[in-house]
Amino acid sequence: MTKYIAKIGLEMHCEVSETNSKVFSSAANTYSEKPNTNVRPLDMAFPGTLPVVNKQAVRMALMASMILNCSQPEYMYFERKNYYYPDLPKGFQLTQETKPIPVGIYGRVSYECDGEIKTVRINNLHLEEDAASLDHFYDTSNIDYNRAGVPLLELVTEPDLHSAKEAVAFLEHMRSVYQYAGISEADSKKGQIRCDVNVSIMDAELDEFDPNNWGTKIEIKNVNSFGGVRDAINYEIDRQIELKETGQYDEMEQQTRRWDEESGTTIFMRSKVDAIDYKYFVEPNIPKYKISQKWLDEIRSSIPELAMDRKNKYIDGYGLSAYDAGVLVKEKAISDYYEECVKTGIDAKVAANWVTVNIIGELNKEDISINDFYLTPTMLKQITDAISSGLLSSKQAKEVFTKALAEQKEPKNYISQENAQISNEDELTKIIIEILDNSSSQIAQYKNGKDNIFDYFVGQVMKNTCGKANPVLTKEILHRELDKR
Ligand code: ADP
Ligand code: MG
Repeated sequence: MTKYIAKIGLEMHCEVSETNSKVFSSAANTYSEKPNTNVRPLDMAFPGTLPVVNKQAVRMALMASMILNCSQPEYMYFERKNYYYPDLPKGFQLTQETKPIPVGIYGRVSYECDGEIKTVRINNLHLEEDAASLDHFYDTSNIDYNRAGVPLLELVTEPDLHSAKEAVAFLEHMRSVYQYAGISEADSKKGQIRCDVNVSIMDAELDEFDPNNWGTKIEIKNVNSFGGVRDAINYEIDRQIELKETGQYDEMEQQTRRWDEESGTTIFMRSKVDAIDYKYFVEPNIPKYKISQKWLDEIRSSIPELAMDRKNKYIDGYGLSAYDAGVLVKEKAISDYYEECVKTGIDAKVAANWVTVNIIGELNKEDISINDFYLTPTMLKQITDAISSGLLSSKQAKEVFTKALAEQKEPKNYISQENAQISNEDELTKIIIEILDNSSSQIAQYKNGKDNIFDYFVGQVMKNTCGKANPVLTKEILHRELDKR
């Protein structure tokens, strides 16, 4: 697409999963397979119940706002967004829509896409409550109130993204921020992340930062996987170019559409003229309260190390490649495991190699998370220590690793003096001389230029030592002894 550029703005909803209770009620905020178990009267909108703001949720929202370089409000209060839907028994959602109420306004965030650093402006970040969830069956629908009142952070970007790739890279960056900051598991498989995607196209030669040049915004509602975001954007860009090329784009009105996974298309829902009037007003049951500078300072000083900080530490401090560092920080739990390895005293590069190659390989193979992985960093150290003391060759170490996992027994059970590799030079030289003394015809062939006979000698040494000879040392001694003959 050279004639046009796409302008994409995201409204990313992420459930805050790390609070004990919901945002305005005391019901537990835990993911539960069993419907309607985390419910208090307020979540069911029983008359006379009153909301109480969860301080921890506000704290996390403010922390996210700081990480996004937004400004924080002086006062905290909430608004009612009025509409009717079966998943919303109160008839309104408590949210923060009109500025300057939101927990964050006008920020910017940098993220990496294909090794390039890009920036997106943030319009606002607000704290609201999630609705209940509906399960539709053939002729009935079930309502699960577990989700009603779960704290939800909605992040609204400016339309600064230009492709599906950038949008997904940005979402992955934000998922990582929420995880590293201890705000949310941000697991789209649990429905914790949902997006509205806004797409338009404009002529490539015009100034993209002048809103007068922007095309007509098409909003795609409720896309709930990153793959869905990618496909919906690609589909929508193609659809809009087609409209442009056939002269139909300019008469098009703003629309809300939905992403249909099955057909891989976006489907018309409503036009802007049918836009809902939510009749916002300030929630009278929650007093407006001032956010103290002291509290803000305290929150700012407690922002944990984020993925980018750790990545830089791995590159500059530990000497890892940018690629390996990137693999390690991609998932916080894996990065935590790696940091634990380094803390127990495994060399940072050695640990990086084990985690990025063997451990992640194993997790993928078994389709498990690092939290369910049997081998702890301390156990891994038993293996790496045995390598550095010469007890294990790297090949043997991999075997011990595999056996320990298969039998769920600590690696030390498989490491012993008897099956240790032979790294004693005198001992190996003795074995090699004996083999060479009995191989006069092979030596003659070797001397006549048949180089691959060398592998035969290595093989003999391995056979003789039941595979325990240190391979590097074996080759060294073999070369030396053969030269002498
Ligand atoms: P609305 O008033 O319809 O909610 P907003 O101006 O609040 O619209 O924007 C909502 C989202 O749409 C934001 O993420 C914003 O970046 C995005 N957006 C606005 N205009 C465009 C456009 N022309 N093309 C693509 N996205 C846009
Ligand atoms: Mg809006």
